[in-house]
Amino acid sequence: MAENNYDVAIIGGGLAGIAASILLAKAGKRVILFEKHKYPFHRVCGEFVSNESRDFLISLGLNIEELELPSIDKLNISTSNGGMKTFPLNLGGFGISRYLLDHKLADIAKSNGVVVMEGTAVMDLAFHDALELHEISTSDNTYTARIAIGAFGKRSAIDKQMNRPFIRKPLPPGRNFTAVKYHVKANLPDDVIELHIFKDGYCGISKVEGEGRYCMCYLTTAASLQQFGGDIKAMEEGVLFKNPILKEYLTHFPSLYADPLVISQVNFSRKLPVEDHVLMTGDAAGLITPLCGNGMSMALHAAALAIPMVEKFLEGTLNRIELERAYTNNWNQLFSMRLKVGRALQHLFFDERLIQYTLSALQPFPSLSNYLIGRTHGKAFVSK
Ligand SMILES: Cc1cc2nc3c(=O)[nH]c(=O)nc-3n(C[C@H](O)[C@H](O)[C@H](O)COP(=O)(O)OP(=O)(O)OC[C@H]3O[C@@H](n4cnc5c(N)ncnc54)[C@H](O)[C@@H]3O)c2cc1C
Repeated sequence: MAENNYDVAIIGGGLAGIAASILLAKAGKRVILFEKHKYPFHRVCGEFVSNESRDFLISLGLNIEELELPSIDKLNISTSNGGMKTFPLNLGGFGISRYLLDHKLADIAKSNGVVVMEGTAVMDLAFHDALELHEISTSDNTYTARIAIGAFGKRSAIDKQMNRPFIRKPLPPGRNFTAVKYHVKANLPDDVIELHIFKDGYCGISKVEGEGRYCMCYLTTAASLQQFGGDIKAMEEGVLFKNPILKEYLTHFPSLYADPLVISQVNFSRKLPVEDHVLMTGDAAGLITPLCGNGMSMALHAAALAIPMVEKFLEGTLNRIELERAYTNNWNQLFSMRLKVGRALQHLFFDERLIQYTLSALQPFPSLSNYLIGRTHGKAFVSK
C-alpha cells in the first residue's frame, strides 16, 4: 500500500496535467500521473500556442528552438462573402502538433521521476475526510494521495462520476458543440493563422512542424451536424462550403489522416476550480472558446498557478481550506474575465452579418483589435 501512496495524483496527461507533474517532480514531490491514452497520440486542437506560455514551456525543459517551429504573428479572418481581413497578433505564437508537444512533455516528466501511468483510465475518485486522503481507482489498482489534481480536460467520465454541476443538465443542441480536426498538406504562409467563419461555426488553419503540414480544425453546433444526420462530409458540403475559401481548402488540401478526428459534447458552461477537494486545472476548470487560441496557455498557466500553493500545503505552511480558497481566488482573478470575453466573441462570430460589420470596423484600428485579443490572453509567465 505504501508503494501506492503519493504526495500528488494527477488525473489527465494533457498540457495542464503534464506541466503540473513536471513542476512537482522538480520540487522533489512523489507524483503519479494517469493518462488514459498512450503517448504519442493525436487530439482535436487548433495547435496554435500563444507566446504567453513560451518561456514557461522552455523552463519545463522543452527545447523549442531545436524543434524549428513556425512562428505566427498574423491573423486572417474570412466570412462567407469571401473577403479576408488581416490583423496583427502582438503577442504571437507558434504552431506545434499535440502529437509532438504532449509526447515531448511526457518524456520530460518521466525523466524528472514522475510515475506516468499511460493507457490507464481513472474510474473513481473519492476524498476520505477521516484520512485526509484522495483515493484514486483504476481498473486494476487503487492509489492514495494527499492532493488530487483534476486535469482530465473538457469532459471526462470522472465529471460524471463526481456529478459535477456543468454536466448534470444536458444542453440544447445549439449550445452543445462538435469539433473536427484534420492535418492537411498545404502551401500557405507559415506566419499566419487563418480563421474562416461559416454559419454556426468557424475553422482555423495554421502551420505545424513538418514539411507542408497544416492543422485545420473547426467548431460547430451539434444542431448543425444533426441537420445532416451526423454526416461530417455532408455538413461540410452543405454548410462550410458556403465560405469559398473553406470550399477550396476542403476540396483541394489532401488530408494526412484516413478520417478526421471528431469530438462532440463540447460545452462552455461555467465550472468550479475546486470540487470535492480536487484542484481542477486546464479545461477541467474552465474551457475558453477555441477562437481565442489560448486554451493551451491557460492550461499551462493554471498548472504554474497551482503548484507553488500545493508545495506550501505539502510543506505545512498552508492548510487545505487556505489552499482551496487561495487557488479558487487566484484562478478566478486570472481566468474568469478571459472566459467571459471568449464566450461573448464566439457569440459574435456566430452572427455572420454582425461579424462582417465588426471586422470591417476594426480593421483600420489594429490597436483596437489587439486590445480585444489581449482581453482573452495573459502576459508571458514562468512558474514562481
Ligand atoms: C476545436 C478546438 C480547437 C482548439 N484550438 C486551440 C488552439 O489553437 N490553441 C490553444 O491554445 N487551445 C486550443 N484549444 C483548447 C485546448 O485544446 C485545450 O484548452 C487544452 O488542450 C487543455 O489542456 P488540458 O490539459 O486541460 O486538457 P487535455 O489536453 O484535453 O487533456 C486532458 C487529458 O485527460 C485525459 N483523461 C480524461 N479522463 C481521464 C481519466 N478518467 N483517466 C485518465 N486520463 C483521463 C484525456 O485522455 C486527455 O489526454 C482548442 C480546443 C478545441 C475544442
